[in-house]
Amino acid sequence: MASLNFEFVQSADKVGQLPPTDTEVAVVGRSNVGKSSLINALANRRKLAHVSNTPGRTRLLNLFQLLDGNRAALPGNRRAIMDLPGYGYATASKQMRYSWAAMIEDYLLERESLVMVVVLVDGLVGPTSLDKDMLEWLRSHGLPHTVVATKHDKVKSSKRSKRVKDLSAGCQLDPGDIVWVSSAKGTGIDKLRSLVRSWLED
Ligand code: GDP
Repeated sequence: MASLNFEFVQSADKVGQLPPTDTEVAVVGRSNVGKSSLINALANRRKLAHVSNTPGRTRLLNLFQLLDGNRAALPGNRRAIMDLPGYGYATASKQMRYSWAAMIEDYLLERESLVMVVVLVDGLVGPTSLDKDMLEWLRSHGLPHTVVATKHDKVKSSKRSKRVKDLSAGCQLDPGDIVWVSSAKGTGIDKLRSLVRSWLED
């Protein structure tokens, strides 16, 4: 299937600084979960999310807009992907962790165009306690979300069925509710692209 064609718009540290969009899908997960690799795989570009992985931007809200053909969509039809900063940097001070959490929470609660939160969970080791906290928080606020398990290729085939069960149980979901992907091998990427399209076309 055709890749999702999108381009970087801008970074911000407050939701109020972002330009309005009509529909938006946010992607969140702990650092190192494979978020940049996945965004690049969805766009079929090697360095798209590089822009959000550059120093200084990893801790910001990074907005990408979906292009219609090769052109920016017309005003009134702006579809976007929000690359949220990864949570759980081991090195960050308590104060910094607190301000990132506040930035993410404000975004999730105030962004009116938000139609879906994609929560990335490491397929090999997830969900971590931070992932569970995030899911619980999203549930408590009634925000629509979908769990995507990353790095499918890293799970040995002999362990897959147990891992699929354990990961979904840890997320308190049915195995069929979780989308498994591998950015390295391309597994599940087409499926996730069509889901993203369908959410944005809401
Ligand atoms: P981010 O911090 O969430 O943006 O994570 P990255 O996309 O930078 O990935 C973190 C590490 O996981 C890198 O070493 C990637 O090469 C690796 N990685 C990401 N996705 C995959 C995948 O699908 N399979 C495998 N085997 N490794 C992956």
